Amino acid sequence: PCTLGVLGGGQLGRMFVQAAQKLGYACAVLEPEDHSPAAQACPQHIQADYADLLGLEQLAQRCDAITTEFENVPAEALRWLAQRRAVAPSAAAVALAQDRIAEKAHFSACAQQAGVGPAPYAVIETEAQLQAAPTALLPGILKTARLGYDGKGQQRVHTGAELRAAWQRLGGVPCVLERLLPLKAELSVLVARGRDGQVVHYPPQRNLHRNGILALTEACPGSLPAGLAARAVSASALIAAQLGYVGVLCVEFFVIDDGSAEGALVLNEMAPRPHNSGHYTLDACDVSQFELQVRTLAGLPLVAPRQHSPALMLNLLGELWFDAQGQARSPDWAAVLALPGAHLHLYGKLEARPGRKMGHLTLTGSSAQQVRATALAAAAILGLAPWP
Ligand code: ATP
Ligand code: MG
Ligand code: MG
Repeated sequence: PCTLGVLGGGQLGRMFVQAAQKLGYACAVLEPEDHSPAAQACPQHIQADYADLLGLEQLAQRCDAITTEFENVPAEALRWLAQRRAVAPSAAAVALAQDRIAEKAHFSACAQQAGVGPAPYAVIETEAQLQAAPTALLPGILKTARLGYDGKGQQRVHTGAELRAAWQRLGGVPCVLERLLPLKAELSVLVARGRDGQVVHYPPQRNLHRNGILALTEACPGSLPAGLAARAVSASALIAAQLGYVGVLCVEFFVIDDGSAEGALVLNEMAPRPHNSGHYTLDACDVSQFELQVRTLAGLPLVAPRQHSPALMLNLLGELWFDAQGQARSPDWAAVLALPGAHLHLYGKLEARPGRKMGHLTLTGSSAQQVRATALAAAAILGLAPWP
């Protein structure tokens, strides 16, 4: 019936396009790179820079509603498009998520009502703020306020001298210094909020990061303490509501040891889009996070998604395409696909690089135990490190 547009051509855009096509929508992708994962899935590729007005004009002309798959798309581009077409999430929400300083200020403002706040932190934009950084934040992590992802733009610091050196290495750009917390676990919550304010959500999933990059997501219902899960969900819904957010929003949490059995929740950050930790919803839920994004954008009804199978997702990073000697190789997909409940997703990226997200593998089964066993078998085939 109408055309949905997406800014950005990565794997999130690809999976959005595929979900939109399933519901009969035509799509258009604006992306500067040729052969991007989303452009491959979409006959209408506008090859232009995200800030190119001619490209944006074309996108607006072809589309009825437009979203973004790329967190760092210029918020200005979304603002410009929103004067012409329906755009979700809004430029303001995306701008907030693009800037850790603004994001943490929003989290702090919501903290009392949400019952959970950010890690102790200080803003470091000036030499004076660097001097005045509280030693109570050490050891800590210095994070650039903008453009960081997959742990890039972060430095761990233990002393004032290390902090100073790290800020210089990061180019003296605006940063936040966050206290390094003893993590018991990490989890994330995906909520979808419609234009009418209706919110639906998935149960929180548990995430394991390696070198700052998501390595694994475990979505086995019942595996997280119920009280903790419920608090994470209600805090996420509140954060979305306070922003007047429309679309799929992912909120990342830390679980830290506070002496209680469950542990305490701390807000880490949010992503204004479907999220890597929600990829399992494609194979383990009746409605995926990408379909919910389509529904919010197209103004279709939202329904509470139902997870029909426990799942575990393994990220497939570029290093799998190289052997120990650094020679190119192809992972043994046939062996992986021989495992019952293995769902392989490759994004069609032409070049593998270490740390680059090339695809993911979701394992589903009839029980959490079975899913874990299959995932360990897949990890052994692929040469992925096992996990606790
Ligand atoms: P993403 O790709 O999720 O956007 P990012 O680069 O924005 O990641 P963060 O989510 O801030 O980075 O941090 C990446 C990971 O580093 C976290 O998931 C966590 O494992 C670890 N980490 C970040 N901040 C802290 C902290 N204050 N204490 C302990 N560990 C932390
Ligand atoms: Mg981030
Ligand atoms: Mg993160």
